Amino acid sequence: MKPVIALVGRPNVGKSTLFNRLTRTRDALVANQPGLTRDRHYGLGRMGPREYLVVDTGGLEPVAKEGIYAEMAKQSRQAILESDLVLFIVDGRQGVTPHDHVIAAELRKAKRDVILVVNKTEGYTHSMAAADFFELGLGEPETISASHGDGVRQLMDMACEKL
Ligand code: GDP
Ligand code: MG
Repeated sequence: MKPVIALVGRPNVGKSTLFNRLTRTRDALVANQPGLTRDRHYGLGRMGPREYLVVDTGGLEPVAKEGIYAEMAKQSRQAILESDLVLFIVDGRQGVTPHDHVIAAELRKAKRDVILVVNKTEGYTHSMAAADFFELGLGEPETISASHGDGVRQLMDMACEKL
């Protein structure tokens, strides 16, 4: 069984961009692993000899104005339950939002290993980009740029150490 890493976060923070960078082989045949829900977006990632599955929780995006949080919580809870590690992605250009706090609370309750990932930080120093996000109570944030690739290798080194 390959370990499963879930990408969680509100819409537009860069989950799919990171997913694509991590998986590259976009249509890799994966997700035949028992115990995984079929209707989510899985990809195969690799770190040296180490292989892992990544799940992009794109389904968290609200489809209706009401019940956004309820739907998000339902979908993400399932993805989180199936995962060995959660990468909680936030937007370093927008700063912390109320929705981020809702997700952070959900993750703390889930008692899963979580790495807080501040995305879109190209051109920022680590300490500047990370500073805002300590208030989410999930420890030291990692800073990356999913679109440029900065920090992604270091992030996945850390992720694989936790698997
Ligand atoms: P998702 O909704 O969380 O899956 O977010 P997407 O991956 O679709 O990205 C949302 C937007 O953010 C897109 O316009 C991306 O090009 C942009 N984006 C993603 N990663 C980065 C990044 O590292 N830096 C910047 N500046 N933009 C990014
Ligand atoms: Mg997406």
